Amino acid sequence: MPHPEHDTTRTTTRPDELLLEMVGVEKQFGHFKALKGCSLGVSRRETLVLIGPSGSGKSTLLRCINLLEPADGGDIFFEGANITRDLAHAPRIRREIGMVFQNFELFQHLNAAQNIMLAPMKVLGLSRADAHDVALDLLRKVRIPDKAEAFPDELSGGQQQRVAIARALAMKPKLMLYDEPTSALDPEMIREVLDVMADLSAEGMTSLVVTHEMGFARRAADKIVFMEDGKIVETAASEAFFGGSVNERAQRFLDQIL
Ligand code: ADP
Ligand code: MG
Repeated sequence: MPHPEHDTTRTTTRPDELLLEMVGVEKQFGHFKALKGCSLGVSRRETLVLIGPSGSGKSTLLRCINLLEPADGGDIFFEGANITRDLAHAPRIRREIGMVFQNFELFQHLNAAQNIMLAPMKVLGLSRADAHDVALDLLRKVRIPDKAEAFPDELSGGQQQRVAIARALAMKPKLMLYDEPTSALDPEMIREVLDVMADLSAEGMTSLVVTHEMGFARRAADKIVFMEDGKIVETAASEAFFGGSVNERAQRFLDQIL
């Protein structure tokens, strides 16, 4: 049995432990290198919080994971399959990886329940009645059970973002990606969204969260990842990170945002 680290025949990662593995991922826009060899593993049931200055590549990293942007170099494995350059994986990846954006991006002409029902009906083939049941369950889960009939413009930002989370959950994703999910919200609404996300993490939803809400990170994250200038500068267990053993550049960044 070769030692795993020297096993050059290895073609996949360890799918039972690592849900997602990025190895040396590169992304270039014209001459600008947005990602410079990023490597990162996300185990099942783990929550990672990704922090770093504006422009450091956090959104690009998330967009490469769910194949919204093709990576130019390196490899991305999802459940052991190399998904990087095989677009045949894209439909499955978009189903199995949920994404929540800063600006909610709900369909304005559909009410909350309809927003949630759309993909399960179109992609999973659920009947309207079954999809409606799913939507009501999820609206309860995100703590707005009475908002099924409300249209986005009748909801607060925090409520809209929770509908967006419910919409992503309706596809039963294996991984949730959140890109600054509370940065467009008024302060009093941040907490209600973070609480829902923390509940999901506690229930074992594998999550990768770009956020500068360090209270959430402390509460929900297993690991903190710090990005700067297209590179992952540090990946630390949450206890170590908040225990004070932080990379100097990460500490300087934290001093600015806290
Ligand atoms: P972050 O989310 O950490 O703020 P981004 O991933 O959005 O950073 O962006 C990283 C860098 O890549 C920035 O300098 C940004 O201007 C650049 N960038 C991102 N997307 C594009 C694009 N589609 N075309 C050109 N440059 C881009
Ligand atoms: Mg961003």
